Amino acid sequence: MADKRDYYEVLGVDKNASADDLKKAYRQMAKKYHPDLHPGDKTAEAQFKEVNEAYEVLSDDQKRAAYDRYGHDMGAGGFGGAGGAGFGGTGGFGGFDMGDIFDSFFGGGQSRQARRGGPQPGSDLRYDMTITFQEAAFGVKKQISITRLETCEACSGSGAKKGSQVKTCPTCHGTGQVRTVQNTILGQMATSRVCDACRGEGTIISQPCEACGGQGRVRKTRKIDINIPAGIDDGQIMTLRGQGEHGKKGGAKGDLLIYITVRPHKLFTRQGNNLYCEVAVPYSKAVLGGEIEIPTLDGMQKHTLAEGTQPGAVVRLRGKGMPSVNNQNVKGDLFATISINVPKRLSLRQKELLRAYDEAMGEERKSLWERLRDTLGGK
Ligand SMILES: [Zn+2]
Ligand SMILES: [Zn+2]
Repeated sequence: MADKRDYYEVLGVDKNASADDLKKAYRQMAKKYHPDLHPGDKTAEAQFKEVNEAYEVLSDDQKRAAYDRYGHDMGAGGFGGAGGAGFGGTGGFGGFDMGDIFDSFFGGGQSRQARRGGPQPGSDLRYDMTITFQEAAFGVKKQISITRLETCEACSGSGAKKGSQVKTCPTCHGTGQVRTVQNTILGQMATSRVCDACRGEGTIISQPCEACGGQGRVRKTRKIDINIPAGIDDGQIMTLRGQGEHGKKGGAKGDLLIYITVRPHKLFTRQGNNLYCEVAVPYSKAVLGGEIEIPTLDGMQKHTLAEGTQPGAVVRLRGKGMPSVNNQNVKGDLFATISINVPKRLSLRQKELLRAYDEAMGEERKSLWERLRDTLGGK
């Protein structure tokens, strides 16, 4: 502990340095001593650790205050051996984003470029399907035809011709990446690139499979049976697991997504599992009451209208709505709004009767009015 250098000295800043100054100084020092630039250099590694430790303490206001007051003595106990923990190359440490440093080193994180060679999952496929309202209500079986990439049967997806072999790429030794060391103004820099020889696959095929051209997958057109469940609604998506494109090199199969559009119905509109419609009845029927027919998905259903039914009255038929797509035994209701059918043409006799009716109503209205006037005390 005694020979520990002052943290400010380590970072080359003075005691009044701002947080920005500290960060700037730290980044410079971290670059200078970064282990990637000094492979195997124990002194540089120790200095890098020292820089880290100094920054971890000074970048934390509380720790910095304690350090300013007590120095390293307090630090050893109080900071829990800051910077003592190992940091394996590119891992994060001391709360500092290592990517930040790598970006400035390598101009955009090439070092972290993922290997392309391994298994890759197949893509999902989308199929748009339009069905009728009736089909949505009762469910329907459909057969569709799709074209997708499938694992090549001739080479079982390896991409290599039968008898030939898939070899580990000699250039990158199967890693898919090559590491180069360059001399720059910052010193020696190690960078990783995708291997040109195998395009990052890590393997080389001497004789590509003729059926798939070495791709390991071929385009196939397939007929697929789809059971569309009763109750499906407009805008819903059915997922057929594993019916999408096959993966590369044994990667998982993608899904087939069926986007459902339901054509509107002439009579019914749907909200949730309930159905709504309008039923126009003759005026006389609304007044006198009687049997009417209400359309349902299963056909016309008889219903007895109460005497004096008003326009806008709603008749609810329980269980005559749409089935739930999740449970066919659960069904919504049907709501029929009653409207009055006003005839445009009447026969002479019908008109006579209606006038007679109107007169009778007029007398009733008059007597009503007289009664009302008497009640109000008028003359
Ligand atoms: Zn093949
Ligand atoms: Zn290679």
